[in-house]
Amino acid sequence: MAYTEDRAAWFEGQGLWEHVPESDWQNWGWQLKNRITTLDQLERYMVLTTEERRGIAFAGHKLSLAITPYFFNLINRDDPNCPIRLQVIPREGESITSAEEMLDSLGEDDHSPVPGLVHRYPDRVLFLVTDRCASYCRYCTRSRLVSNAQDYNFHPEFEQGLRYIESHPEVRDVLLSGGDPLLLGDKKIEHVLSRLRAIKHVEFIRIGSRIPVFLPQRITPELCEIFKKYGPIWMSIHVNHPRECTAELRAACERLSFAGVPLGNQSVLLRGVNDDADVMKALVQRLLRMRVRPYYLYQMDLITGGSHFKVDVRKGIEIIRALRGHTTGYAVPQYVIDAPGGGGKVPINPDYVERITDDEVVFRNYEGRAFRYPLTSTPLPRVRPPLAAEAERARFVE
Ligand code: SF4
Repeated sequence: MAYTEDRAAWFEGQGLWEHVPESDWQNWGWQLKNRITTLDQLERYMVLTTEERRGIAFAGHKLSLAITPYFFNLINRDDPNCPIRLQVIPREGESITSAEEMLDSLGEDDHSPVPGLVHRYPDRVLFLVTDRCASYCRYCTRSRLVSNAQDYNFHPEFEQGLRYIESHPEVRDVLLSGGDPLLLGDKKIEHVLSRLRAIKHVEFIRIGSRIPVFLPQRITPELCEIFKKYGPIWMSIHVNHPRECTAELRAACERLSFAGVPLGNQSVLLRGVNDDADVMKALVQRLLRMRVRPYYLYQMDLITGGSHFKVDVRKGIEIIRALRGHTTGYAVPQYVIDAPGGGGKVPINPDYVERITDDEVVFRNYEGRAFRYPLTSTPLPRVRPPLAAEAERARFVE
């Protein structure tokens, strides 16, 4: 059935936690302290499927279970296939590893000169500043180290990472990620940003964070002041389904935008969550309304225990084809595969070009109509202006 939604409605409120004082609800520390992290807690609120119970039993060996009360409210507890539920409640599929899957699917560890820093491309580094997140996504690319359920013993080392960047003048772009960098306290965030800003060769600082989506309460005025002070700080948030676009998230994006933080969104194409053109269209249009530019749509990385989320690439191409020309160009993300083993992001586009010769390119538009764009120039014969026009010009000059 086609996805439909009330475009004027934005989910808001405390839902199951209506009894809690609003001051607690709006406090990000309260949200973290009251996360749902165990089977017992989950069962207090919902009936789980057998598949989920098995997944939860395995989560301690793979990636911890944690869901903020705020995000839990977005789950339809009566629907085992709820797209929000699928993202954060473990399922048995996580315990099944396929032959092509890898623990470190992007080959990051091979390009890590100091713990927590990945330097694969000449001019930019990935700086992993924490292994914790507000909630855990069951398809996380870094599930090997995030939450430390796999005893990966990842201990982020700010000082070593900062010193590495200071001593490498070719690094002009730093991406802070993890785990989720915005889970650090204000003092630590300010420390890292001030140190990076003091490095002359660092021109571009960006943050990858799902905190605005899991914990919009964390986007406090104080945090925004830090971004203003050390800006421009660019941020990629991570929204997968239009139901995640709540009034709270919209307000958090507004606070970030007004603090001068340009916002982009990265989605992962996930089976049962957003592998549908109508869902994706609703998502990207809501993102624009929240001041967020859809940036990447990722084909899911080949992480261990992820095959139950995997979508056929042809489906992804079909979704992009359903967006391009059918909605605002700003709303169309770049569909990419992050090449397994670490080859970088490669765009995967629908093929609009029919043929290119020395003379012309022939292509089809979003409606399937064919057009021709000539590649050569054929000068027309010069034509003398009509005599009457010449006489008129002469009269005007006199
Ligand atoms: S927020 Fe990001 S790092 Fe954390 S679990 Fe989700 S995908 Fe992984």
